[in-house]
Amino acid sequence: MARKFFVGGNFKMNGTKESIKSIVKNLNEAQLDSNVEVVIAPPALYLQLARDELRKAGVEVSAQNVYDKPNGAYTGEISVAQLKDSGIHWTILGHSERRTLLGETDEVVASKTKAAVDGGVSVIWCCGESLEEREAGKTVAVVEGQLAALKAKLSPADWEKIVIAYEPIWAIGTGKVATVQQAQEVHEAIRKWLAENVSQAVADATRILYGGSVNGKNCKDLAKEKDIDGFLVGGASLKPEFVDIINSNQ
Ligand code: PGA
Repeated sequence: MARKFFVGGNFKMNGTKESIKSIVKNLNEAQLDSNVEVVIAPPALYLQLARDELRKAGVEVSAQNVYDKPNGAYTGEISVAQLKDSGIHWTILGHSERRTLLGETDEVVASKTKAAVDGGVSVIWCCGESLEEREAGKTVAVVEGQLAALKAKLSPADWEKIVIAYEPIWAIGTGKVATVQQAQEVHEAIRKWLAENVSQAVADATRILYGGSVNGKNCKDLAKEKDIDGFLVGGASLKPEFVDIINSNQ
């Protein structure tokens, strides 16, 4: 079965009530490829607003993070059950900004991913190497290490609720997009890893997104690659060109 193209918009810590309403209005009014699954991830404070304003079939709202404990004394955190209670069925996890700035280890990310999946929330699970790691020729080893930590926590059936986002850290927010070949190479390596370590069925079904300086201009060439099943978009998801990225696989 063909993998459905998937485009996520990661607003990060950007936006106001007004700007989020206007981004959602733009999506509501746009002509979107109906063969694409779209999720937008505003800051937690605006999840409900985005959900209330969205009128478009095929577009859903995602959190940017979730905690792995069911409830209790965890100041500042949000639980999987609370997301579900608010009608939010997706979360991003393991973004490199949380890994590097907030110290989330591979194990913490894996544990949160398991909690989300168990609670019925699908996950855009992020991985990727730093510039030093790439220059040292360690890209695939780093990504495989991140995948192995995830696999240790998941059952084979859990992978149905995972979308993988490969985001080289050096390409995030820098304007330095990976070349089509660099991205395809890592995507292919991820798919091979899934086939060898999880199952061929999971390797065939799992969407692998590319993220890192994707924009309205570079998306079309990336989308043509056989192992690139969509994008996780930061900066450009706040702009009207997000629609061009959603429609890049047409
Ligand atoms: P960018 O961010 O598109 O602004 O590079 C991508 C991301 O961090 O998901």
